[in-house]
Amino acid sequence: MSESKEYVDVWNQLIGKITEHISEDDFTVWFKSINYQNSQENKIILSAPSTFYISQIKRRFGTIIEEIAQDISGEKISFDYIVLEEDTSEAKDEIKESSSKSKNETTESKKSKIAPSKSFKEVKKDIYKIPENYTFDKFVIGENSNFAANAAMAIANDPGITYNPCLIYGGVGLGKTHLLASIGNYVLEHDSSKKIAFVTAENFTNEFIESIKTKKEGQFKNKYRSADILLIDDIHFLENKPQTQEELFHTFNALYESNKQLVFTCDRPVSELKELTDRLRSRFERGLNVDLQPPNYETRLAILSRKIENSNVDIGEDVLQFIAENVSSNVRDLEASLTKLLAYGHLLNKEITIDIARKQLKNTFSSTKETHIDINTIQRVVADYFSISPNDLKGKKRTKAIAHPRQIAMYIARNITEYSTTEIGLEFGGRNHTTVMHGTQKIEGKIQVDSTLDVVIQKLIRDIKNYR
Ligand code: ADP
Ligand code: MG
Repeated sequence: MSESKEYVDVWNQLIGKITEHISEDDFTVWFKSINYQNSQENKIILSAPSTFYISQIKRRFGTIIEEIAQDISGEKISFDYIVLEEDTSEAKDEIKESSSKSKNETTESKKSKIAPSKSFKEVKKDIYKIPENYTFDKFVIGENSNFAANAAMAIANDPGITYNPCLIYGGVGLGKTHLLASIGNYVLEHDSSKKIAFVTAENFTNEFIESIKTKKEGQFKNKYRSADILLIDDIHFLENKPQTQEELFHTFNALYESNKQLVFTCDRPVSELKELTDRLRSRFERGLNVDLQPPNYETRLAILSRKIENSNVDIGEDVLQFIAENVSSNVRDLEASLTKLLAYGHLLNKEITIDIARKQLKNTFSSTKETHIDINTIQRVVADYFSISPNDLKGKKRTKAIAHPRQIAMYIARNITEYSTTEIGLEFGGRNHTTVMHGTQKIEGKIQVDSTLDVVIQKLIRDIKNYR
């Protein structure tokens, strides 16, 4: 390539493509103000309003710009930047009104107009970017995530073959998006020709609505139905959106029939989504449904240790233990606590002690620590669910209709509170601790053979935690 015209084309295409990889805000802030200037052999020269822009663009987008340029042109192109201060105001005007004429239109600034300032929507292209950071090797597997993580890895190794479709569900911050993205990243790493559609249910919905407005439904359908792997995050967003559900139903069928892999995530089991058409629900439930639970103490500690593994920060094992003990809600909160402490230590150049950790994380703890759950609440919620009275749970009746809910309530009390079996027994009409143990074991056994019971219990636990 030697014609500068071709470099202009590369840049124009690049501007279109970059929107697949960065957020709309980043595009507006950083890319609306840089323009093509001219080119040399294997080099494109761009203008930016200030050196600050240049350093930011180089640091944050330098690699991706070069990668895309290479994709487009098939050769390695480097980028140089020059500051065009006097262009700043005009560059901004140009964003607002693309037809505005610049005052002193030199050849240079004329060239700078070659890059069309299309709106983000116009250039927003096909497939959404998969978060690069989310890979299997960064995912710490614990007993809480063992099943889901292994299913995800099996899928990534053999897309469309092993578990299709697959639905990963679990509460906020437990790693759903991380696993979903890991599948995409892994597949791409091993076969970059695979077409992976990674999208949140929200973006899928918005894009679908936009396609109707602009009469481009055909394009929309093609895009998703031509994917090799469809990964949709947070499908609970589709509740109450019958038209999008309908569209996804057909997309699902088209892909499924041609053995393309489908993976979804959801913040609860599909059976608990209220406003979902039966036929789509049955599609989601068709394949493998796996859940992510909150990590236990050991896993929390392992996650924290992994997070600091490759950074040369000085944080004691005791502080990590302290965080792991106190932040039990989910991995996101765990990460946030660690990040906060590291920032504190770094900015103030202080060693992070448990005392500092306690002070700094006070607010985090109070918001993440599960509020104390009492056994009465458990009894009320469980009794409600089985349409009996809480007193039945404490009473003497041993009919199956009462004994089964009673054992479930005991099992839950044992699992989500710190009460001993003796204390729990007392709350259930003064029963002996062995009765509580027996009841708990009975439910554990039943869960092994009846996964719907587990679903019911998880739902009850959620209701109990949300009980006000
Ligand atoms: P969700 O989508 O379930 O709300 P995310 O996948 O966004 O949760 O995870 C929240 C954060 O916690 C992310 O930064 C993610 O990398 C991290 N994370 C979650 N689970 C794990 C894990 N098992 N090991 C390491 N990091 C994890
Ligand atoms: Mg998520």
